[in-house]
Amino acid sequence: MTFELPDLQYGYDALEPHIDALTMEIHHTKHHNAYTNNLNAAIEANGLGGKTIDELLSENIDIAAVRNNGGGWWNHCQFWEAMSPSGGGTPSGELAVAIDSSFGSFDEFKSIFHNAAMTRFGSGWAWLGVKDGELCVCSSPNQDNPLMDGFCNPILGLDVWEHAYYKMYGPGRATYIDAWWNVVDWNEVSRRFSNCR
Ligand code: MN
Repeated sequence: MTFELPDLQYGYDALEPHIDALTMEIHHTKHHNAYTNNLNAAIEANGLGGKTIDELLSENIDIAAVRNNGGGWWNHCQFWEAMSPSGGGTPSGELAVAIDSSFGSFDEFKSIFHNAAMTRFGSGWAWLGVKDGELCVCSSPNQDNPLMDGFCNPILGLDVWEHAYYKMYGPGRATYIDAWWNVVDWNEVSRRFSNCR
């Protein structure tokens, strides 16, 4: 199987003013594209053709090029799909009930997620996931994700690499996180939540 760089479902400027067009374009056409190409090269070099991304991430994470680029490919795919120019607001339905049940309230969840994203030292990701039927928050270094160690089933991930925010926010990761809530597509997150219950 050869992996491809997915098209975005919106323009590079569609998430402004929360995420700027130049950051989106470079992030997609340079960073995600490089992970895609390097993943395909790692698959060929290691004779792993035909494996799904889930198989690659769960069975072959001891191969650094597969771990870093496979994670990079998957993480960014879910990132683009979980954002929308019509995003923001609050979750509804079963997801909203589950957030209240697990964290107390949506604001409490956002605070816990924000803390996970802020305390991830260096580059990595913050995650909302489902573990044993319950929602949980965690973070991962580099391009790792919770699929690799089976910790949880991730349904929303935030990129906290500097390449995701530095042009617009400089070292202001907290401001970037606050802005990102305005573009989260809760309908997509709800779909993912339904799929893993
Ligand atoms: Mn990134």
